[in-house]
Amino acid sequence: MLKSKEYKFWFATGSQALYGDECLQEVAEHSRIMVEALNKSGNLPFEVILKPTLIDNVSIRKIFNEANGDDSCAGVITWMHTFSPAKSWILGLQEYRKPLLHLHTQFNEEIPYDSIDMDFMNTNQSAHGDREFGHMVSRMGIERKVVVGYWNDAEVQSRIADWMRTAIGIIESSHIRILRVGDNMRNVAVTEGDKVEAQIKFGWEIDAYNITDIAEYVQAVSKGDIDNLVDEYYSKYDILLEGRDAAEFKRHVAVQAGIEIGFERFLEEKNYHAIVTNFEVLSGLQQLPGLAIQRLMEKGYGFGGEGDWKTAAMVRLMKLMTQGIKDAKGTSFMEDYTYNLVKGKEGILQAHMLEVCPTIAQGSVGIKVTPLSMGKREDPARLVFTSKPGKGVATSLVDLGNRFRLLINDVDCLPQDIQMPKLPVATAFWRPEPNLATGAEAWILAGGAHHTAFSYDLTAEQMGDWAAAMGIEAVFIDKDTTIRNLKNELRWNSIAY
Ligand code: MN
Repeated sequence: MLKSKEYKFWFATGSQALYGDECLQEVAEHSRIMVEALNKSGNLPFEVILKPTLIDNVSIRKIFNEANGDDSCAGVITWMHTFSPAKSWILGLQEYRKPLLHLHTQFNEEIPYDSIDMDFMNTNQSAHGDREFGHMVSRMGIERKVVVGYWNDAEVQSRIADWMRTAIGIIESSHIRILRVGDNMRNVAVTEGDKVEAQIKFGWEIDAYNITDIAEYVQAVSKGDIDNLVDEYYSKYDILLEGRDAAEFKRHVAVQAGIEIGFERFLEEKNYHAIVTNFEVLSGLQQLPGLAIQRLMEKGYGFGGEGDWKTAAMVRLMKLMTQGIKDAKGTSFMEDYTYNLVKGKEGILQAHMLEVCPTIAQGSVGIKVTPLSMGKREDPARLVFTSKPGKGVATSLVDLGNRFRLLINDVDCLPQDIQMPKLPVATAFWRPEPNLATGAEAWILAGGAHHTAFSYDLTAEQMGDWAAAMGIEAVFIDKDTTIRNLKNELRWNSIAY
């Protein structure tokens, strides 16, 4: 169900009329060659569209307003080939509302030492013109990304590609609709938050429904539809009976199939992209949604446990940002559960009661049916697996009362070669940067939640850029984190925000 638009990015080259037609033709030709090469590189996830060279206030304002009005445009990439007096950019920038990338590059990679003359210098002066442009964007306080380097360099293209995914997160954020089934878990603080402010800041629509409304959809699912989906489960996943009666096991699995179909119909009909459940509120459902929620997450829906709509929205957002990545390793809702504090083997066992997304699974995925220690429903079926090893980013969006803060922690998922035969849930085991002790201390000082939105396929830089575009505070916890600096950063941020 993870449908996203065929987004495009516009390439706008800045110049001015002063240099004459011949120079402007060369500028346009260079931009054409660059855009064509960018599109052919295979390194960008979205197409770049070349726009006419911008030389004055009228043409600049027109392009930015057209970009605002074009639903398929997810951002504008600007580059000053020559000098472009930045007062010409003020009104266009003022009216522009989409992500902005300032690509600080130049057509030639190397200075042509043997032939360089003043004509060449006047035509190729990005070092000059891009500073004038950058000054104005900074003066106007507009959030943008600056990428520096030769445009045909794979590393530079990869940075453009990363920004494009951040831009999708910025554009798509205001289309995310979150379905709350019941309220937040009673007495829990960190999953709460200001939903009005969240809509102002992020554009999220966050609506509550009664559990009985959605349970009716589950009860209405036909036996034929359930049987078909159960067949799919049985062909796709390992069936781990562990002593349970095969027919009884299958009946439990079928309950989750009904929940998956019923929930998805409800979400689709009412146009929601993320969902929260609460194990305290299950009237009309035979089991806590486990396998069903895991499958919905795999399809691209956001999820947060115990009514955690902030994390549900973040999971959805990060799934949109990572969509279509070749060899993507996965994105999931996650929860910090248990530590291993043994020296040299430190880490945090990540899981949830049931709901971990199978996109992060390493190897085969199984189904188990076991009792849930909480709640009063029948034993839920769930998908079990361990996660892929590798680096990822764990994010936690918290509401501090006067503002939102996004914590962004680089984490390293370690190979899980030790069996946990009695643990019937999907798990990851990660070590936060810079190490467990400092990482966890920093996380706690910054007020981070126990729930996270986790991805292998995004970087801290991308998430920080997204937060900056939303106008919220971002706190990074990574290899450079020291507690003394972090405490000062939090203190200074409290004034800045
Ligand atoms: Mn939880």
